[in-house]
Amino acid sequence: MRTDKWLPDVESFAKKAGHFKVQDLIQLMRVNGVPISRATVYRAVNKLLFAGKIIQISHEKERVFEFVKQQVHYHFRCKNCGTILEFYSDEIDNSIRGSARKLKILLSEQKLILEGFCKFCSRGKSARKRKKQKKCQ
Ligand SMILES: [Zn+2]
Ligand SMILES: [Zn+2]
Repeated sequence: MRTDKWLPDVESFAKKAGHFKVQDLIQLMRVNGVPISRATVYRAVNKLLFAGKIIQISHEKERVFEFVKQQVHYHFRCKNCGTILEFYSDEIDNSIRGSARKLKILLSEQKLILEGFCKFCSRGKSARKRKKQKKCQ
């Protein structure tokens, strides 16, 4: 019940939050003077996720979400610093739709996450070889 009461608030903050972790949302709401408990935000986020209003774009220990936008877009996630970048591509959209038609499937969600190293992390890697590099990187 409590969660339902807060749901519209959490939703409107989620809309403004860009790519967010639950922790970011709690912070954002508290900064804006919304006295909401951590547990309520967690429950509300799960409800929004279930309702398809937000999508999960990273499955790390701390999940990253974003509000579903009108225009489909794709993500890149840096494996080193966790930065998330987004991009749009008509070519990818068309290709996915074409494949869906061929397979006769009805798409409900279109999610593409590329992973690698962002320009800062990849630069750091090649320029000065760090000692504390993790194995297999
Ligand atoms: Zn990075
Ligand atoms: Zn995005």
